[in-house]
Amino acid sequence: MAQTKTARTAARESGRADAARRSQFEHHHRDIQGGSARAAVFGVSDGLVSNVSLILGLAGANPSNAVIRLAGLAGLLGGAFSMAAGEYISMRAQKELFLREIEIERREIERHPKSEHRELVHLYESRGIPAELASRLADEMMADPKLALETHAREELGVNPDSLGQPIAAAASSFATFSVGAIVPLVPFLTGSGGTAVIAAVVATAVAALVVGGLLSVFTGRNWWWSAIRQLLICAVAGGVTYGIGHAVGVSGVAS
Ligand SMILES: [Zn+2]
Repeated sequence: MAQTKTARTAARESGRADAARRSQFEHHHRDIQGGSARAAVFGVSDGLVSNVSLILGLAGANPSNAVIRLAGLAGLLGGAFSMAAGEYISMRAQKELFLREIEIERREIERHPKSEHRELVHLYESRGIPAELASRLADEMMADPKLALETHAREELGVNPDSLGQPIAAAASSFATFSVGAIVPLVPFLTGSGGTAVIAAVVATAVAALVVGGLLSVFTGRNWWWSAIRQLLICAVAGGVTYGIGHAVGVSGVAS
């Protein structure tokens, strides 16, 4: 009897250790594959495309340097705040949704442990685990309330209750990465003016676009050079179109 209990405890301990190890691996995995590094590159890309369009759109109309500088700065701040707010709101809402679902699950486990146990057994069986082993696994999972909740949350909601994301950190990171991208086409107008600044902004943006595109290929697994050229083309089209529109509107504005 005592022996069985010790064996069970040991099994549970090792199960918990496995769960901890597994969650470590998953975190590791998620960080490499998705997560913050990828979000950062997308943030830089957004800032770059958004502000180069704005700045070249204005530059096309050939206003004074102060106007371009002010608009570029406003574009940087407006875009960064908008990205940060969007990130915060969506992550906050998602977190609240998960917390609510996890709370429902917690109550279910508390009130109907048997049916929740059955649920796990069915789940393991559906994955091809033999009935007896599935039942033993479910016993172990359900024996510890925290592990039980974690298991149900993972299996039914696909989330780890301990890592539901950090909305404020995500918002701050969005703000910072967008700003990094947005400042690239702005810098030449902070230090120079006229056609030289326009050319410098185009060159700086092109180089940054190639770098961003190359980095994105790390996450997409595509050819780095194709990814870099695609990013360059997107920036060129966005900047070219707005420059043309700015030029047309600016000229007609002067004429009228
Ligand atoms: Zn459940």
